[in-house]
Amino acid sequence: MAQEIHSFEDLKLNRQLLSAIEDLGFDTPSPIQKQAIPLIQAGHDLIGIAQTGTGKTAAFTLPTLMKLKYAQGENPRGIILSPTKELVLQIKEHIIQMAANTDLRCVALYGGVGPKTQIEEIKKGVDILVCTPGRLMEIYAKGALVLKDVNTMILDEADRLMDMGFMPQLRNLLEIIPHKNRQNLLFSATFPEKVEELAGEFLDFPVRVEVTPESTPVETVNQKVYHVPNFRTKINLLEKLFEDEETFHRVMIFANTKEVANNIFSFIERKVTKDVRIIHSNKGQNARINAMKDFEGGDVRFLVATDVSARGIDIKEVSHVINFETPPKYEDYVHRIGRTGRAYHVGEAISFINKAEEYHFKEIQKVIKMNIPVSKLPEDLTVEPTPRQENIDMERVIDKFKRRADPNFKGAFHEKKRKPQNNTSQKSRKGSSSSRGRNKSTRRRR
Ligand code: ADP
Ligand code: MG
Repeated sequence: MAQEIHSFEDLKLNRQLLSAIEDLGFDTPSPIQKQAIPLIQAGHDLIGIAQTGTGKTAAFTLPTLMKLKYAQGENPRGIILSPTKELVLQIKEHIIQMAANTDLRCVALYGGVGPKTQIEEIKKGVDILVCTPGRLMEIYAKGALVLKDVNTMILDEADRLMDMGFMPQLRNLLEIIPHKNRQNLLFSATFPEKVEELAGEFLDFPVRVEVTPESTPVETVNQKVYHVPNFRTKINLLEKLFEDEETFHRVMIFANTKEVANNIFSFIERKVTKDVRIIHSNKGQNARINAMKDFEGGDVRFLVATDVSARGIDIKEVSHVINFETPPKYEDYVHRIGRTGRAYHVGEAISFINKAEEYHFKEIQKVIKMNIPVSKLPEDLTVEPTPRQENIDMERVIDKFKRRADPNFKGAFHEKKRKPQNNTSQKSRKGSSSSRGRNKSTRRRR
């Protein structure tokens, strides 16, 4: 880069934008903003990778607003694609704030509501569209949208777009949006293979800026872990921790599945407080938006979420992220804890791990190159016995990890024939149908 960027003034932005940035209270550009904005302004196609909460939205919005300058014609010139309605609305909100001193027109297109109002808005003239791929395609198919003037196209949260299976829809869109002279930008928190593939199809000779290695968690997050033997005890631990209302004032609780999320939610609602909401993919769009609003507005203390429902959503000043379950994918761990410590606020991420999750957690620590300190369970915590099926399920996961480490390992269900190892593995061995399944699959592998 030719010139060192220290402040927003060093970026080639006009007075209108600088004043909006000031109103937003941004002092200095974040690292991804410093690096990406000058390259975008120089006309490059760009891949921008930076962890959640690092200001990617402004990194692509500011130069785009600068380029579009003022309202012009009827048809959109900029298109931003994002995977969910919540994200679309969040980006639109950000654009409206940054474009406050301009006459640029921004319209959001998303599903869950009828297209009529959105089509009417487009008809009034639009400069920037923020949309989910499905709704954009739908409205285009109705003939309500002219895409020939699009000169800037942005894929935000590209990793989520890929995870949610948007590739075929994106390919269709790329076919109908004129490619000539179009500047393309792709932003993502992580850069897995699928995103690389998308980047290859979507961008021309892109420059790539990567601000932090994708696996480094936000430094301001204080991480710790509790060893908790089973589900019931995890619930007891939640209840215990939440007694401290002052410390745990804005808490996101993550589960791996919507079933577990529902369980946690009902428990908190029943035992702790009605001040709790839940978001997961089975909830209606309106329920999810209301849940987010209540949590963001500070009306409720607790938000229970799954990875799919929560990725990329910007909620500020979360005091704690609780990993009620360890996510099997380390990227999800990084995304989860990115909810706290966002935008310069210090936060805490607490993981509850049982004996099977210890293995996943070890992997996570390896990848993020950190040792997360273990906290002692509170003295007065009620530790419940582990139900038999729950134990079997955990042993199965442990077997998998052990076999991966040692291909000759035959699994806990074989243990006794060789040498007895410990009580738990013997207990779960006894004549369960799943142990037969296990033997079979072990045999098949060898
Ligand atoms: P990302 O898309 O990378 O996850 P966002 O663009 O949603 O992150 O930004 C995260 C938060 O940081 C938002 O609340 C945003 O307003 C704030 N933010 C962005 N840029 C700056 C900045 N330069 N200074 C202070 N806060 C910022
Ligand atoms: Mg974002």
